[in-house]
Amino acid sequence: MPSNKTQNPILCADWLLPIASPPIHQGGVVIEGGRILAFGKAEELCRRFRNLPRQDFPGGVLMPGLVNAHTHLELSLFKKQMALPNDFVSWVFELIGRKIQLTDSDLESSVRRGLRETLTAGTTTVGDITNIPRSLSILQESGCRSVLFREVLGRTGEETVPWMEKVAGELHSMEARAGERVTIGLSPHTPHTLSEERLKALAAYLKEKSLPYAMHIAESEAEKDYFQSHAGALKSRLFPVIGWGNTPDPEAFGTPFEHVRRMGLLSDRLVVIHGVYLTSKDLDHMQEAGARVVLCPRSNHFLRVGTAPIREVLQRGIPVGLGTDSLASNTSLSLWEEIRFLRDRFSEDPFITAERLLSMATLGGAEALGLADKIGSIEEGKEADLIVVECRGKNGNELAARLIEQTTSDKIRMVMVAGEKLPLQ
Ligand SMILES: [Zn+2]
Repeated sequence: MPSNKTQNPILCADWLLPIASPPIHQGGVVIEGGRILAFGKAEELCRRFRNLPRQDFPGGVLMPGLVNAHTHLELSLFKKQMALPNDFVSWVFELIGRKIQLTDSDLESSVRRGLRETLTAGTTTVGDITNIPRSLSILQESGCRSVLFREVLGRTGEETVPWMEKVAGELHSMEARAGERVTIGLSPHTPHTLSEERLKALAAYLKEKSLPYAMHIAESEAEKDYFQSHAGALKSRLFPVIGWGNTPDPEAFGTPFEHVRRMGLLSDRLVVIHGVYLTSKDLDHMQEAGARVVLCPRSNHFLRVGTAPIREVLQRGIPVGLGTDSLASNTSLSLWEEIRFLRDRFSEDPFITAERLLSMATLGGAEALGLADKIGSIEEGKEADLIVVECRGKNGNELAARLIEQTTSDKIRMVMVAGEKLPLQ
């Protein structure tokens, strides 16, 4: 991997799209030590930094790399393998059945395959959920930036104290190996796949640590039913089959999010994934605590679970990113396709603009993952995580809409993390 300390040329393109400020015609970026030293009009930069060579991308738009804030790269081998499910629980059964047949080596090649697809789509950061130790080194070797969330779950089995010690030990060793581009996080899988005792132990652990943590919350009606009435498809169909038929139900009734809050897991480091069934009251609590959310619209559509309250989340100023989720519930890992899906779905809503969608896919994702001080926009001092996208026939006003309309993986001309170009193969 070449050092990011090597001198970068001034990158110049037809348009510079910083996200946090208006587009600049004939713009450029100066990089030093992997970070953005300056950005602005290319001509001015070339005068100011006359010792630096320049590299031009004619017909290109230079912008921050996309942030795919929720993936399970280890499930990438399931691309186009899963049948359209009748309902959420049927899909869970199919997923479990397929997953137990995979070896660690299958899962590792799955991560590699998923990463390739992710990077070639112009994504430079992933929020990935993992169950295999090798994910960390595979991510490091790729050069991609990531928050790697170690997944934990279980309502039965080992006593909570030794279980928690094991989890803490593993996270500690992952943190020791993480390096600059990987942030280690924890993923308590869902409110219904962990016992109350384990959820409380995780909450106590997370209070002591500064780790980000991501949890699938309020994804399906089945989950909502379980917490509201301790009944429904999870309780009657799923739990008995996987050996949780006799596990105790939560002590109280409420929404899945209320359960998470009652267990002590609400904080400004909580990343709520999906949030399809978040209520206004849940959102009040999230807003107050500074919690974040990652929406996965195509996955929700595939699983037929409903549509998340995107407008309400945006209007409240809750940090919101986008994720593709895994290829077990989506057709691609391209965030451009995720944005296009939202554009079409909300075409009648003037609030969901092309600019807002692009912002969610970059700065919003960075905020959701707790990385907004480093990435997500072109600003001085931020890491040079940049992409160049070929985009024809645009002017400043319609730049975002054109990018969303036109961008496919074959239009990605360059992908760079911390000033280092990554191979697009
Ligand atoms: Zn997921």
